[in-house]
Amino acid sequence: MFYDAVEGISRDSLAALQTERLRRSVATCLASPFYGKRLRALGLGPEDFNSPDDIRKLPFTVKDDLRAGYPDGFLCQPRDAFIRLHVSSGTTGAPTAVYYTANDVDSWSHLVARCMHAVGLRRGDVFQNMSGYGLFTGGLGIHYGAERLGCLTVPAGAGNSKRQLKLLRDFGVDGVHIIPSYALHFGHFLQQEGIEPGDLKWRFALIGAEPHTERARRRIEELLGLKAFNSYGLTEMNGPGVAFECAAQAGMHVWEDAYIAEIVDPVSGEPLPDGEVGELVMTTLCRDGMPLLRYRTRDLTRFIPGECACGRTHRRLDRITGRTDDMIIIKGCNVFPMQIEQALMAMPEVAPNYLIELYQENDMDQIRVKVEIQDEVFAADDRTRAALHKRLVARLRDEILVTPAVELVRRGSIPPAEGKAVRVDDRRVHEDCRSGA
Ligand code: ADP
Ligand code: ZN
Repeated sequence: MFYDAVEGISRDSLAALQTERLRRSVATCLASPFYGKRLRALGLGPEDFNSPDDIRKLPFTVKDDLRAGYPDGFLCQPRDAFIRLHVSSGTTGAPTAVYYTANDVDSWSHLVARCMHAVGLRRGDVFQNMSGYGLFTGGLGIHYGAERLGCLTVPAGAGNSKRQLKLLRDFGVDGVHIIPSYALHFGHFLQQEGIEPGDLKWRFALIGAEPHTERARRRIEELLGLKAFNSYGLTEMNGPGVAFECAAQAGMHVWEDAYIAEIVDPVSGEPLPDGEVGELVMTTLCRDGMPLLRYRTRDLTRFIPGECACGRTHRRLDRITGRTDDMIIIKGCNVFPMQIEQALMAMPEVAPNYLIELYQENDMDQIRVKVEIQDEVFAADDRTRAALHKRLVARLRDEILVTPAVELVRRGSIPPAEGKAVRVDDRRVHEDCRSGA
């Protein structure tokens, strides 16, 4: 029933497996310049880890450590053991590089195949990867997983909607990988082409790589006429394949045979009980070339308490609500872009694309939300639009506790991003920070 028997492993056996693999990872890490020094300074070796919780003996690894160790301060094998590298997309600053040995590519592909199997894809299905290739792990990472599962894999890459559609039809594609912002854009394209949701054969979309709300998922499902499954990953942990929804669509199973996942209080670093939202911290258990110990992802989420209907025993992560570093502080309130998306997507008059602009006026920080609206509302009379405007302002204020300026714009007037959507345009110039290095 499962792709791997380990998906249904008992929690006790899982803890034993994690402990054994944690020891092995720590032993491997002694060979890395960064961890070797750190572990020796702390006097820690593999024998100090006798349960998964012993991981707390280790300090966190943060993005700045990876940057400082760029390009190869984390490698645990000789240079010629590596066959691939990826570089994170750098959404929040300088990029970081992750290297893979042949074994690492192999175990990663296997995990991705497991995820695709969990949503219902099978050997012989046709799979189109509609995400960018290149350094972005969503390209090759998903590609290798799809091939591993035995799918006929179409490496379409991102963009060029007309060609995507031709490929989807010509090859009778069953499943796709697509980032949510492009999925919404593609849905609009299909409407314009006069294609009804049920016209295409496809049944599954894997959507991830950027935060999106439950409502955005439902919209994607309706527009495209398929089931969409949340896919979570990050370059530092290989890329996609870290946590994935199963057919139950009730949170993402994080593969605990391959990672130790913790949720910690972002300020104190203390572990939080299941159900509480905090920062996700991840440790690799199956990586030979560049293991990472207690890496702070900066992604905010929680463990969903209880068991999943599918019978998998690996815990589930809730939807990522944002990153610790994408919080906007405006007029003394903490605001996450996903709260704004949440409010917008609740209104059917609103089209999927929006942009949050931050600027200064009279030395005060201001927030303006540019919202694309559906064509028929845009074409309606001034009163209809004014009424919508008023409702939007009120709804956003209820959600973020600040009254934003709202601008209603025509559908398609906010240029879609090439890769991950850029939701915030921060023009609050603090000269001393921006110029310089
Ligand atoms: P970058 O950090 O530069 O964007 P990555 O391509 O490695 O580079 O992106 C990983 C990040 O993308 C994650 O840390 C997370 O913030 C975001 N992400 C990935 N998958 C999801 C998802 N399913 N939901 C929300 N955010 C996601
Ligand atoms: Zn499940």
